Amino acid sequence: MMNMVFERKLAIPMEVKEMYPMTAEMEMIIQKRAVEIKHIFEGKDDRLILIIGPCSADNPDAVIDYILRLRDVQEKVKNEIYIIPRIYTNKPRTTGAGYKGLLHQPNPNEKPDMFKGILATRSLHMRAVKETGFSCADEMLYPENHKYLDDLLAYVAVGARSVENQEHRLVSSGLDCPVGMKNPTAGDLSVMMNAITAAQHGHTFIYRGWEAHSAGNPYAHAIMRGYMNKHGQSMPNYHYEDLAHLAALYAAGDFSFPAAIIDTNHANSGKNPLEQPRICKEVLNMRRYNHDIKKLVKGFMIESYIEDGAQPVDGGCYGKSITDPCLGWEKTERLILELAEML
Ligand code: PEP
Ligand code: MN
Repeated sequence: MMNMVFERKLAIPMEVKEMYPMTAEMEMIIQKRAVEIKHIFEGKDDRLILIIGPCSADNPDAVIDYILRLRDVQEKVKNEIYIIPRIYTNKPRTTGAGYKGLLHQPNPNEKPDMFKGILATRSLHMRAVKETGFSCADEMLYPENHKYLDDLLAYVAVGARSVENQEHRLVSSGLDCPVGMKNPTAGDLSVMMNAITAAQHGHTFIYRGWEAHSAGNPYAHAIMRGYMNKHGQSMPNYHYEDLAHLAALYAAGDFSFPAAIIDTNHANSGKNPLEQPRICKEVLNMRRYNHDIKKLVKGFMIESYIEDGAQPVDGGCYGKSITDPCLGWEKTERLILELAEML
């Protein structure tokens, strides 16, 4: 017996893909970018990756407006920087309370509607490719939902609250794109390294009612997002010693290649998004100083939107985050140009 109502059977990924089909032109964009991104992770292309955008994609029009702005800047820095916009459509919540993303609430001020949410999520990732030419990043919060988007995503992150979960690790081992494994909220790097090991190897498991075999994903890598100590204080893990230690962990293990993304917000900024430019610049200086850190750090994950900061869900300000506070557009544009200058 379950204390739960099964409201309606939802469309499966194949049906949703028939409703929102890919065009040949979109496929070309996605495929070309997939190859470019793999080259950066492999070290064949030394451009700096920026996985950048709002904490949550709460309003499709504002998100597309934001990504179109990224398009213009990307053009100016195309030799130094490779942008992968963040379109985060499902949000993990620390206590379960609060806005859970476009997938749950296509309109943040209305009650959850999972069918509309699935369509809104696919539709937004498709709009990004069609209207801006970018394939984007999302978090894989619910591994079984990945197939609604698997043909569209350029990059997948496994969040700090999911990274110790076996299903996330096994499904990651079957994805054909880079998967960033975040360090867990308490900061234990062995949890993250074990997730990378698990995802880099093949497995046999049950996925969506199938016996599935994965090939192993050599592009699984680390994301350093800072952590909370036992007193509930935010502690950074982007400092020189942290990154040198991460390079040593990679060197001591059996991994395809060292790769890490530095998340400049969350516990690294103590959720002060205005610290993000300083953190990026500090890490770029470390890369100059230490060759192992240069090889290791492939780029940054930056929480950025049109307006600085955050507002309540019903705040009503266009382009302002309703989850974690973000860096606003003007400061973001300046940051991207400054980073390109430093490279
Ligand atoms: C995020 O990237 O917005 C996020 C939820 O990250 P984390 O899992 O690191 O908290
Ligand atoms: Mn966030």
